[in-house]
Amino acid sequence: MLIEQPPFLYRALFPGGIWRIPADEKCVYLTFDDGPIPEVTPWVLDKLDAYRIKATFFCVGDNVRKHPDTYQLILDRGHRTGNHTYNHIQGIRYLTQNYLANVEKAAEYIDSDLFRSPHGHMRLPQVLVLRKRYRIIFWDVVTRDYSPRLTPAEVFDVVKRYTRNGSIIVFHDSLKAEANMKEALPRSIEWLLEAGYQFKTF
Ligand SMILES: [Zn+2]
Repeated sequence: MLIEQPPFLYRALFPGGIWRIPADEKCVYLTFDDGPIPEVTPWVLDKLDAYRIKATFFCVGDNVRKHPDTYQLILDRGHRTGNHTYNHIQGIRYLTQNYLANVEKAAEYIDSDLFRSPHGHMRLPQVLVLRKRYRIIFWDVVTRDYSPRLTPAEVFDVVKRYTRNGSIIVFHDSLKAEANMKEALPRSIEWLLEAGYQFKTF
C-alpha cells in the first residue's frame, strides 16, 4: 500500500531523505512521532526499558515547551530525539521561510541533527535548506496507529507485513494513537525480537 510503505517515486521527491538504512544484519529503527506528552510518552519509555530497546522520538517543539520534564525523561533514558517542527505544520502549506522559522523555533527546545517533517509534506526548497543542517528521516513502515479505522491487530499486521532489513518504523506517542499503539507496540516488539531484529537509533 502507498501509505504503509511509500513507493520509490515518492521517495525520490525528497533528495537526500533517509527512508531506510539497509545493513547486513537484521535491524530496525523504531521511531515515535508527535510527543512528548505526559499521558503517553512515559508509558512508551517504560515499555522500551522493559525490552531494553532504544528508539528515536521526533518531538513537536510546542509539546517540549509544555512538557519539559517528559522530554527530559526521553533523554535520561538514553533515547534519541529529533525536530518535528514547533507546531506540527506541513511544509507544503507554508512559505519556505515561514516553515524554516517554525523548525528553527523547535530547535530552541530540541537539540538534534535529526529532522522529520509532519506528514512528509515539504517543498523542494525546504528540503534543500534543511538537509544542510539535518539528517532528514522519513520512514519505511507507517504503522497507521493513529487511524481510528484500524484495530490494534491491523496495526500489528502492518508491522509484520512491511518490515524488512533496515526499516524505519513509525509509531506515535500521541492521544490519537494511544489505544492502537499501546496494544500493537508490545506485540510488534516481541514479533521483531523473535524474528531476530536488532533495534537501532540514528
Ligand atoms: Zn507528526
